[in-house]
Amino acid sequence: MLVDNHNRTINYLRLAVTDRCNLRCNYCMPSEGINFAKNDKLFTIEELSKLSAILVSRGINKIRITGGEPFVRKDVMVLLAQLANMEGLEDISITTNATLIGPYIDELKELGIKNINVSLDAIDKATFERITRRNQYDVVHNNLIRLITEGFNVRINFIALDGQNTQDILPILELTRHYDVAVRYLEEMPFNGGSKKFQSITWDYKRILEHIREAYPDYYKLISPETSTSINYKIPGFKGSFGVIPSFSRTFCGSCNRLRISATGDVITCLYAKASANLREILRGANSEERIKNEILKAVGSRAKTGFEAQEKHKDVFSNSMTSIGG
Ligand code: SAM
Ligand code: SF4
Repeated sequence: MLVDNHNRTINYLRLAVTDRCNLRCNYCMPSEGINFAKNDKLFTIEELSKLSAILVSRGINKIRITGGEPFVRKDVMVLLAQLANMEGLEDISITTNATLIGPYIDELKELGIKNINVSLDAIDKATFERITRRNQYDVVHNNLIRLITEGFNVRINFIALDGQNTQDILPILELTRHYDVAVRYLEEMPFNGGSKKFQSITWDYKRILEHIREAYPDYYKLISPETSTSINYKIPGFKGSFGVIPSFSRTFCGSCNRLRISATGDVITCLYAKASANLREILRGANSEERIKNEILKAVGSRAKTGFEAQEKHKDVFSNSMTSIGG
């Protein structure tokens, strides 16, 4: 079991399989001039699988595959198939922009991978295209509805972006009236590759909730798992649910159970911290299993208590882009 220096059990790994993406969401990365990692700096599928197995042997039982966009890697299904057969790994989930997932839906179902988070920051097509700087709305919408109707456990991630998409907060909630889907509203974080700096946000989780409360005064709170980052609610009569994730307000750090590994092998123990180690060359070298375990123990043993503490120590962390961290 992995236990950090604040006595929190770490059982959840967020594994980025690439830093590349076919969209250019303006809150995540600049439109151009991005230094994507060279291929040899990215793990191969065999390396990702080996790394996962080492971590599962230390107590990780949930892995989320993220990126960049996981499905820009044509070999991602090979990794998912290997993870699906990994003993001790109880939960595999994916975070995707849903542009490229279509051809893989049947195979995902066969592998028993059901938990899919779809990032969708607008229900209005023009707003979507402005934010993502690409014209993939119809594909995303079709894939989203297909995933929901084919029985996947789908959660939609919607980042509340001041001046860009808050007019869609209520319209996107309509999806939960008709479908058993969760819409989760996230606070914007300043990890966008340096294209926009800010110290505070207008649309924090409280404001999002007030806005929803004005339209649906009788929504009520659901019981959520202790380690959940989302606070979840339901509107009476609606099939699905909604939630808020205070990703900038950071109210959930006390029960954080996560470890992140970036596409290039950085170990990140908090979103608001810089990498504490890099595993790529270690994994490629001699005695790798033992050395990886040691690095992980070291990283987990020196975690910041909260995102605020991490931010204090790593003042330049905001130059990071979410596409390399994985969200
Ligand atoms: N490409 C995939 C996707 O968009 O779902 C996976 C990677 S993306 C970096 C993971 C998550 O991070 C997405 O839900 C995205 O909306 C979120 N994200 C990216 N930049 C963010 C930011 N600056 N603030 C808050 N969330 C962000
Ligand atoms: Fe790509 Fe996801 Fe970042 Fe959008 S949020 S640019 S889809 S990695």
